Amino acid sequence: MTVEPLGRLNQYSSIMPDGQLPPAFRFAPSPNGYLHLGHAYSALLNEKLAREAGGKLLLRIEDVDRHRSKPEFETAIYEDLEWMGITFDGPPRRQSEHLPLYQKALDFLVARGLAYVSTISRRDIGILAAKDANWPRDPDGALLSPASERYLDHTASGGAIRLNLDAALAACQNTVSWREDGAVFPFEANKWGDVVLKSRDQSFAYHLAVVVDDADQKVTHIVRGQDLHAATAIHRVLQKLLALPEPDYLHHALILDETGGKLSKSRHSPSIRSLREAGLTAAGLRRNLGF
Ligand code: GLU
Repeated sequence: MTVEPLGRLNQYSSIMPDGQLPPAFRFAPSPNGYLHLGHAYSALLNEKLAREAGGKLLLRIEDVDRHRSKPEFETAIYEDLEWMGITFDGPPRRQSEHLPLYQKALDFLVARGLAYVSTISRRDIGILAAKDANWPRDPDGALLSPASERYLDHTASGGAIRLNLDAALAACQNTVSWREDGAVFPFEANKWGDVVLKSRDQSFAYHLAVVVDDADQKVTHIVRGQDLHAATAIHRVLQKLLALPEPDYLHHALILDETGGKLSKSRHSPSIRSLREAGLTAAGLRRNLGF
């Protein structure tokens, strides 16, 4: 395993927002598999930066995806973090216990014409896109929903709720940016298209839940993997629309496997628990990851 250089990361704790909130960091795993070294790195980095900043370290279980979240993975997250010796300030927050809050945020956006019911299915978008080699995709590779779907029927039921990105950007007067490691980042939210905020199976989407949670938990510093860098643009749009505070961001380099690939459950990357069973100690894990 290799860890890429961290650049100016160590100066991060000295960059505090101007606001009055005391520093608060969070680790926010999804209980849809076992934690791997990438998660461990993220958790330990949050711990280090929180302690250096004299701030809080919070744990959030991102179980808003009802189909992929499993109680046994949530239990395993607690066990792994305890084994790693990470202590959090306060009890964990579970997204599944805050659904009314996400609904409130969604209602706010719908009432202002910034989100709409979209009845086109992913399958139908796929059929349309199959006829057009240049059909746009979002930074995660998902096909964008056609804008022609936007104005079909705002009162239709049984669809997903999507953000109307053009209306959203206009409402933000196209002045959204984000702070990262002392720099202000250029903004590329238009690549995301009309993201789903609530799916047709009534699950709230990550993008909506994460901004509501970070604000509700008064998180001031969001430290997470580089794979979520592009998503920050859409998070900042939502924060602005919902008048939520602006956190500071840091997207750390990902830990890669021997082939240079990203660690993931689907690639069968070794889990923390399998490394533990193979004899790795918590101190060894910290040392290997540079902590
Ligand atoms: N729940 C996400 C994950 O496990 C992290 C989201 C975030 O840190 O914003 O990858």
